[in-house]
Amino acid sequence: MSVRPFREIHRRQSRQISVGDVKVGGDAPITVQSMTNTDATDVEGTVAQIRALEEAGADIVRVSCPTKESTDALRRIVPQVRVPLVADIHFHYKRAIEAAQAGAACLRINPGNIGSRERVKEVVQAAKDHGCSMRIGVNAGSLERNLLERFGEPCPEAMVESALTHAKVLEDEDFHEFKISCKASDVFLAVAAYMQLAEACDYPLHLGITEAGGLRTGTVKSSIGLGNLLWAGIGDTLRVSLSADPVEEIKVGFDILKSLGLRHRGVNVISCPSCARQQFDVIETVKVLEERLSHISTPMTVSVIGCVVNGPGEALMTDVGFTGGGRGTHQVYINGVPNHRLKDEDIVDHLVRQVEAKAAEIEARMAAESEAESPAEPARVSG
Ligand code: SF4
Repeated sequence: MSVRPFREIHRRQSRQISVGDVKVGGDAPITVQSMTNTDATDVEGTVAQIRALEEAGADIVRVSCPTKESTDALRRIVPQVRVPLVADIHFHYKRAIEAAQAGAACLRINPGNIGSRERVKEVVQAAKDHGCSMRIGVNAGSLERNLLERFGEPCPEAMVESALTHAKVLEDEDFHEFKISCKASDVFLAVAAYMQLAEACDYPLHLGITEAGGLRTGTVKSSIGLGNLLWAGIGDTLRVSLSADPVEEIKVGFDILKSLGLRHRGVNVISCPSCARQQFDVIETVKVLEERLSHISTPMTVSVIGCVVNGPGEALMTDVGFTGGGRGTHQVYINGVPNHRLKDEDIVDHLVRQVEAKAAEIEARMAAESEAESPAEPARVSG
């Protein structure tokens, strides 16, 4: 029985697949993905963008492969990056085979669109030969004509039927290493489709609200849509689609997961909106602090609160807490308890030092714990 049952999320039991060395589904952590927006044939630029995404914490990155030149480029990109890559293929089955041969860890392709059964067999064989998984990607904006005619418009039932029809094509080839997405730009439609799909199969689900909008509007829309699903225990991997730098997609993805306690990466900052009672400039401090702490991947919580009205209470559950005090006497908390006061020193510099020290301590503790958990050397029997 949990101490705080109101925070519990019971994840849907999905089967587990592999995207390279990253597990998706089952009890694996919910992964965060993004997609490059460079031309894949610009190998240098694409590698640089993938590395920036890795730095931000991306678990998986998707690269569009519309041409033979781009699958050739993929072969040169794969060895230069750490994260597994998903090759985005729309229709051409040859691109899928080339991408599998080039080292893609996963193919995003809708098998129902490949064409003849022979072609499907070839793609599945290439995936099996090269250890590729697949993602079936249903999109409300590009549903099959027969479904639109029958259902009249994109609706959850049509999207689920499309997904299961594509899935059946792979199942008929005895291929089960795939995940499914069922995206729509309409939050209601996407959420309803994912909920129905979650009931209808046990494949891992890749969540996304497609064409969600710019950084602010897309973040809000994705947080509502993905937040609802994740809270209901649905979703094994996600991509936040923003008309913005892909690195922002990763940051937002992690922030959604952090808000629900589903994944912890980096510093979770709790801060007040500030008001006339603030004893230092909260907004500017938090803005600079978040920038300065963005390199920290250790999961930890830091509170930055303008005054004693809410400061001590918020600091209780944090690793490092900071509360503005009268006459420039601010209070620093470590592990939820008052530790020392700060008067004249720069607040951001001081907090960065405290957080870095705490992060190092947490890392050391986690390393010691994992060492203790790993199997001990078998005892030597002498004599
Ligand atoms: S914690 Fe203090 S400074 Fe911050 S919003 Fe509340 S009253 Fe204002």
